[in-house]
Amino acid sequence: MKAVRIHEFGGPEVLKYEDVPDPELRKDHVLVRVRACALNHLDLWVRKGLPGVKLPHILGSDISGEVVEAGEYITDVKPGTRVLLSPMLFCNHCEQCMNAQQNFCPQFAVLGNNADGGNCELITVPRANVIPIPESMNFVDAASVPLVFLTAWHMLIGKAALKPSDTVLVLGAGSGVGSAAIQICKMIGAQVITTAGDERKLQRARELGADHTIDHYKQNISDEVKRITNRRGVDIVFEHVGVATWPESIKSLKYGGTLVTCGATTGYDARLDLRVLFARQLTMFGTYMGSQGELLEVLKHVFSGKLKPVVDRTFPLAKTRAAHEYLADGEQFGKVVITT
Ligand SMILES: [Zn+2]
Repeated sequence: MKAVRIHEFGGPEVLKYEDVPDPELRKDHVLVRVRACALNHLDLWVRKGLPGVKLPHILGSDISGEVVEAGEYITDVKPGTRVLLSPMLFCNHCEQCMNAQQNFCPQFAVLGNNADGGNCELITVPRANVIPIPESMNFVDAASVPLVFLTAWHMLIGKAALKPSDTVLVLGAGSGVGSAAIQICKMIGAQVITTAGDERKLQRARELGADHTIDHYKQNISDEVKRITNRRGVDIVFEHVGVATWPESIKSLKYGGTLVTCGATTGYDARLDLRVLFARQLTMFGTYMGSQGELLEVLKHVFSGKLKPVVDRTFPLAKTRAAHEYLADGEQFGKVVITT
């Protein structure tokens, strides 16, 4: 099959479009013909080098496609079924897995990170990863959903206990998690303040339901938040940007507010004044993905049309390098998707 692999860590130039052997189907796995694979910032981090990545390596966490064949032990998946793949691998027998915390499983892995991913034509995954999609949903939309909607759902619902009365500051409306978070907040009935770097993105954010928008290049985030909330601050800050926004995120929280974060796109070495943490009685959550049950839960809302995948543009598999460069430039609103 064709695949894009890395043989060394580095810039976009290390992505090689090449022929590789087809994966072998295990009796307890499903073979899927990949049709679309969405990029995440995780792809850029893995390409630059993360511990636990074995080379050569196939990137790509968010995958949709058609079932080619089910292994001998699997009786409930038919060839031709249109599916998306849960991006998580887990053992399904440890205490954490049995307690619906697959993202704490000692064998937890993410497709495209510490297992081969979907920048290729064929992939095999366990039965639990194979989730049928509705007829009305195309492969590009389907691939745009799993990682960002699961992450945003776990952050807001699983950790921050989002309520209709809450006001939420969502950083980075143009990102995949940002556009997912805005929609989840509005579905619950919360107020959303969001940020982006130009008017085109702010307009898209308002179309997704954001109540207030802040241009983070022209306006001071916490000053605007204070103005919008009558100096109270927000109940929840939805962080993933990192160093560039962290001080403003902390300043934007109300007394007793909650910050939840899943990333550090602009850098991880942020500062925290402990006096602010205890005196303002803040709560902070770090999250990584979510549970398999949470994925199935948020997908119900996606499949019913209440939550919508946001796709910026697509690139063919052979142009994966250009897709990485485009994502790194940060001009997108929503997901960048590779088609095969
Ligand atoms: Zn486990």
